[in-house]
Amino acid sequence: MSKAKKVDTTVVAEERCKSEGCKHAQARFTFCDEHYEWFKFGLITKVGKKVSDFEKKYTHYTAHFSKDTAKKAA
Ligand SMILES: [Zn+2]
Repeated sequence: MSKAKKVDTTVVAEERCKSEGCKHAQARFTFCDEHYEWFKFGLITKVGKKVSDFEKKYTHYTAHFSKDTAKKAA
């Protein structure tokens, strides 16, 4: 019998952003602010998994937010 009880830290994990590999705290609907935006754009599912056409959607996503810097080579 071990004298040191294993401390369960799942409470902390539960409060992390659901997106894979993200260590930020949840801000909205189980995601951090950034990944909530990803979720809204359909880049990730509600459990934080990237969708099959993530690369394509991510391109659109970044393009959407780079309008201000889209002055180069028109
Ligand atoms: Zn996140």
